[in-house]
Amino acid sequence: MRKWQCTVCGYIHNGEEPPEICPICGADKSQFIEITEIKGETEKEPAVEKIAESKSDDQPAVPDALPQPLFSYNSITRLMIKHHLHPITVHFPNGVIPVAVAFIFLAVIFQFAGLAKASFYNMIFVLLTLPVILFTGYNEWKQKYQGATTNIFMIKIISAAVVTATAVIIVLWHLIAPEVLQGSSGIRIVFLLLHLIMLAATGIAGHIGGKLVFKD
Ligand code: FE
Repeated sequence: MRKWQCTVCGYIHNGEEPPEICPICGADKSQFIEITEIKGETEKEPAVEKIAESKSDDQPAVPDALPQPLFSYNSITRLMIKHHLHPITVHFPNGVIPVAVAFIFLAVIFQFAGLAKASFYNMIFVLLTLPVILFTGYNEWKQKYQGATTNIFMIKIISAAVVTATAVIIVLWHLIAPEVLQGSSGIRIVFLLLHLIMLAATGIAGHIGGKLVFKD
């Protein structure tokens, strides 16, 4: 059976023809190249149109053999991808956000201000990690997935924007009005809702990230 690989996300499809749309990243049929297995190794056979594309591409103008400066932007960002810095760093807020959300709900349920304060400190930590995560994510999207604009990447970008916006609003709100949980029930609901929106966006971004990594 023939094998086809998505050049955007690396998904492998078995069949006589490549799929119309990649089930993982949504790239169209033209993004697939045929691959063959030789003695346990996989060798790619670029389709004619992919070869033509690479010739017009500006990247091959710099051969890989040329020495790269050790601390150039390119060498550092490549190292970040090689050592999976985005999946590693993203686990920090992914682990802390559910705790912060649980703390804020428990603070309301048990009328315990200490838990609200704990939630606030967790949110500050989330906010501090976000610039690193946004940068490593952007870098991975641009270099590993060629900045593809299929639905899966757009949803991931929107989710990241929602998490960032809600984190900024929650922290600023805490700073400006620390007694937010003692306010009217309407304000309390909006404040709690912001936390739930953040949690949902984190879950969506994480789910899509897992899909891209594990290709299932
Ligand atoms: Fe794909």
